[in-house]
Amino acid sequence: MEEERGYEEERRRMVELLRTYGVSEKVLEAMMHVKRHLFVPHHLRDQAYGDYPLPIGEGQTISAPHMVAMMCDYLGLKKGEKVLEIGAGSGYHAAVIAEIIGEAGYVYAIERIRWLAEFSRGNLKRAGYKHVTVMLGDGTLGLPEHAPYDKISVTCAAPDVPPPLLEQLKVGGKMVIPIGRYMQVLYLIEKRNGVERERKCDVVFVPLIGRYGFH
Ligand code: SAM
Repeated sequence: MEEERGYEEERRRMVELLRTYGVSEKVLEAMMHVKRHLFVPHHLRDQAYGDYPLPIGEGQTISAPHMVAMMCDYLGLKKGEKVLEIGAGSGYHAAVIAEIIGEAGYVYAIERIRWLAEFSRGNLKRAGYKHVTVMLGDGTLGLPEHAPYDKISVTCAAPDVPPPLLEQLKVGGKMVIPIGRYMQVLYLIEKRNGVERERKCDVVFVPLIGRYGFH
């Protein structure tokens, strides 16, 4: 039987590259722990630690490691937080968030494609993450039963911020969300007395499809 490779050296090289981009130590440490090769289709495992997106089936992608790292850093994730992710995909980004917030925290991730919801659940289970739940559904509606959330991470591009997500964010909470159809910009949203939007960078994401997304 073929022996399972651990890919430690490749993972270390990926983390060293991300360090040169200014990613925080907290996020680098989490990414050193998460076995990205367990979250990509088997035939792409040897490419799992390259800094680029990879196809995961159903026309969807696992985001590039630098994008996962930047989004986690923008959110300023802390131990014990409750986080909502829209677009579970492979489950990798949820696993990185779960590493950062620790077992006192919890990640709820929503995925609209049944096959990917099952793929991400299987990957998270194999990688050993118990404080992450993947729900099948339209993430533009959020997940009111577990709201409010400290942080919300949207990993697909929306026409604008879906109102239910803003409602389900705690006062003092933060959300990262790519906005735009062709030209997309990643925004950091902070909910205080009002709502502040900070433009972060240009990005390329698959579309958020749903009631408050694209149709
Ligand atoms: N975070 C993922 C990962 O770590 O692999 C990558 C996400 S991929 C770039 C975007 C995902 O968002 C796709 O799996 C897509 O099916 C999903 N998606 C699109 N619209 C959605 C919606 N309304 N609700 C939930 N998921 C959605």
